[in-house]
Amino acid sequence: MNPVPYPPRDLSSASTLGLPCMAEHFAAPASLAELQAALAEARARGWPLTLLGGGSNLILPERLSGLVIRPAMAGWWVEEGEGDRVRVHAEAGVVWHDLVMALAGQGLWGTENLALIPGHCGAAPIQNIGAYGVELSEVLEALQVVDLADGREAWMTPQACAFGYRDSVFKGRLAGRVVITRLVLNLSRRGEARLGYGDLAGRVGKDPTPLEVVEAVCAIRRDKLPDPARLANAGSFFKNPVVEAALAERLLALDPEMPHFPQPDGRVKLAAGWLIDQSGLKGLCEGHFGVHDRQALVLVHFGGGSAAELLAFAERVARRVLERFGVALEREPRLAG
Ligand SMILES: Cc1cc2nc3c(=O)[nH]c(=O)nc-3n(C[C@H](O)[C@H](O)[C@H](O)COP(=O)(O)OP(=O)(O)OC[C@H]3O[C@@H](n4cnc5c(N)ncnc54)[C@H](O)[C@@H]3O)c2cc1C
Repeated sequence: MNPVPYPPRDLSSASTLGLPCMAEHFAAPASLAELQAALAEARARGWPLTLLGGGSNLILPERLSGLVIRPAMAGWWVEEGEGDRVRVHAEAGVVWHDLVMALAGQGLWGTENLALIPGHCGAAPIQNIGAYGVELSEVLEALQVVDLADGREAWMTPQACAFGYRDSVFKGRLAGRVVITRLVLNLSRRGEARLGYGDLAGRVGKDPTPLEVVEAVCAIRRDKLPDPARLANAGSFFKNPVVEAALAERLLALDPEMPHFPQPDGRVKLAAGWLIDQSGLKGLCEGHFGVHDRQALVLVHFGGGSAAELLAFAERVARRVLERFGVALEREPRLAG
């Protein structure tokens, strides 16, 4: 065999949680051919694979054996569709927020509520990114994947992606089996702002442009969420739990102020941040980690901690919520390796 390509890489600054991590081998393919070559090399050498994007939804362990691939194909282009519709093609390595800014700047509607979500386009479908009442699945027309096992390309429809709340087939049946290489978004030159969520409506004037909505979303998010560049975090650490109606009713009887969102299937979505806050944990600091003092859904890393410590801390937070409310919290960021 040839000398070992793909040297090790220190990934300690590759995730927004800033956890120390060393990858045994690292590749940043800038084309499909380079990606397929890296996959073939990993197969030949029996290396396990880890996919990395912007590292904003990942808990990295201290050592990652095998090959870490961070797709670096970063082209995007607009294709005119019928009437007001346009198709936007975006490769995996494009930074999601940069794309949203550029599209809004061109007056295109569809992604404006999803501004300032960190990460790359290739990872956006994994948990069907969502914010301010909009999810990626609403604008996704198709996506391209490459099979990790044989390097073959294929296209998938949104139906095949089985999107749900912070969920998709890429977290289930296809977890660790494909790399997403390109998104095709279906956007419109004419649209209406979706302002029904949170305090968005109060932040824009009458008939706002997509760019004005983007600016409002960014302003709200900057007020509410700690910037990972200043205080390491992975955004929401827990999903908002969806519980049976009977449990929601019992909890509402104890506190009618509890935020709750009835779902089409009769169950009720609760606010994980509120549950953590009401468990008395907001602002809690233990060792190198803490619950953010303004947004209890965000766990923060003060530096010097490890993935194992973070998971133990998160476990303690979840246990307190379970004891107080009988509601189990599920972790949102994925554990790599
Ligand atoms: C401050 C902050 C705010 C956030 N706000 C939101 C929010 O409002 N809404 C929301 O939905 N999320 C939010 N997130 C979570 C995060 O931004 C998204 O999940 C984002 O899509 C992750 O992208 P990434 O490139 O950083 O993925 P990574 O963290 O690098 O990877 C996430 C997962 O995707 C896999 N993966 C990465 N690239 C590929 C690929 N090309 N093909 C296949 N698998 C791949 C990885 O192996 C991993 O399992 C927030 C995070 C932070 C830090």
